[in-house]
Amino acid sequence: CGIVGIVGQQPVSERLVDALKRLEYRGYDSAGVATIIDGALHRRRAEGKLVNLEARLKEEPLSATIGIAHTRWATHGAPTERNAHPHFTDGVAVVHNGIIENFAELKDELSESGAEFRTETDTEVVAQLLARFRRDGLGRREAMHAMLKRVRGAYALAILFEDDPSTIMAARNGPPLAIGHGNGEMFLGSDAIALAPFTNEITYLIDGDWAVIGKTGVHIFDMDGNFVTRPRQVSTAAA
Ligand code: GLU
Repeated sequence: CGIVGIVGQQPVSERLVDALKRLEYRGYDSAGVATIIDGALHRRRAEGKLVNLEARLKEEPLSATIGIAHTRWATHGAPTERNAHPHFTDGVAVVHNGIIENFAELKDELSESGAEFRTETDTEVVAQLLARFRRDGLGRREAMHAMLKRVRGAYALAILFEDDPSTIMAARNGPPLAIGHGNGEMFLGSDAIALAPFTNEITYLIDGDWAVIGKTGVHIFDMDGNFVTRPRQVSTAAA
């Protein structure tokens, strides 16, 4: 299971899949990628190996300069295309590694207030919560912070909001997340190995951190919403 993201200037699809390949050693049962093109979210997903996702992308290419991608190791819901990440709800795209422990309770609550769940995953509550907070009028960062206050469990998350085609949001509590600093481009990955072809300048999120990643840099916040700084390190992972 793994996560990658690129906020770039150059096309991202191929690079996202190549970075996922560098995370294959972790194991997975399905994979997917999401991008924003002309103000709209698009995705391709496939069961099984990354070659299947590559075949989908070949049939229907995604030409974009921002994207998030995921290899899934199913914990809740069968390893089908329908349950594969990214999950889309009302302009929000989510990829997740880990387990949202209170998903059943959140799902009941959201369903009672009208949410329609389309997958059997624990992850979908993250997308549904963010969509609900946006409908309630919260900004993207406020919605992110409010969502993180509701979910419990282990997560590495990468999120796209359709109404901001130049930013990836990320959060970590448990599974590692590395942010890569490029030249006018920024990267996100489950580890520095995934990002080694792009950059060796890495900032690791620590548990409880969440981040707003743009083309030229990253802002990191803690669980209380305070701005924090984390060191930039030079990774020795080989490209
Ligand atoms: N719990 C999530 C799911 O089953 C994420 C699994 C993973 O870490 O890939 O969809």
